[in-house]
Amino acid sequence: MNIFTSPEELHAWSIEQKRLGRLVGLVPTMGCLHEGHLSLIREARRHADVVVVSIFVNPTQFAPNEDYAAYPRTEAEDLRLCEAEGVAAVFLPTPELMYPPDASTWVEETRLSKGYCGAQRPIHFRGVCTVVAKLFNLAAPDVAVFGQKDFQQVAVIRRMVRDLNFPIQIIRAPIVREPDGLARSSRNRYLSPEARATALSLSRSLAEAKAEVDAGERDAAKLEGEIRAKTSAAGWIPDYVTVADADTLVPLQTVRPGASVILLACRNGTLRLIDNVLL
Ligand code: AMP
Repeated sequence: MNIFTSPEELHAWSIEQKRLGRLVGLVPTMGCLHEGHLSLIREARRHADVVVVSIFVNPTQFAPNEDYAAYPRTEAEDLRLCEAEGVAAVFLPTPELMYPPDASTWVEETRLSKGYCGAQRPIHFRGVCTVVAKLFNLAAPDVAVFGQKDFQQVAVIRRMVRDLNFPIQIIRAPIVREPDGLARSSRNRYLSPEARATALSLSRSLAEAKAEVDAGERDAAKLEGEIRAKTSAAGWIPDYVTVADADTLVPLQTVRPGASVILLACRNGTLRLIDNVLL
């Protein structure tokens, strides 16, 4: 497995892979890899001949009051997992290698990134789009895989790819959950045993809402109200709970099965979790 820290080395390697006629798949991550990330790597392998995993805790997507410094970093274990998954190359740059000190160019999606998590985290998606655009230029992938876990992120990236003509297929891989339903996340390790138990109210209330939709319920406000009540009762206060169009993220009053999603973010003290379900 190749381990690159320099952007130039990654780029040269990727261009050589393409010259050899190989399809390149990219899985961008911030490390602290878990089963969710591994499922993206496996999905990338189904669509590409060689897979690149980037591991980079991207400073530009964290606001000063967020957990950039404290974000969990488990590099040795991440490399072991990538090797075991048959990853061809890991890209492990430093912030200094990714961002010249006088970098002054941003990539910003201005519509899908504004609501939901973007409302709570105003600079987050600008940082995500900028770093993902840079990774796309460096790895020159044919395919890139992102997780449904971060539903708004995939929608924003898809829009950026369309608007800026990146010749890259974007794949959205399903959410990997713990056996009891909690969506896997690198930040789950911050949960106390009690918060871990009450956090189940997020995935449970979403699953129950989906079951209601499957049984014929179409009233978005009713579903949202029920979810709010359930997570709040468990101590998880919603930032947002919204039934939305799965492509445009525009809020819906009436569920359109096959084209809708329920997006959810909840807080418990300083903890914040997101989850979603396709309807
Ligand atoms: P992160 O390292 O948290 O930035 O995530 C890197 C990629 O893994 C993103 O595309 C995430 O959406 C995806 N991901 C994280 N958790 C999960 C999960 N539980 N299931 C599927 N994909 C995930």
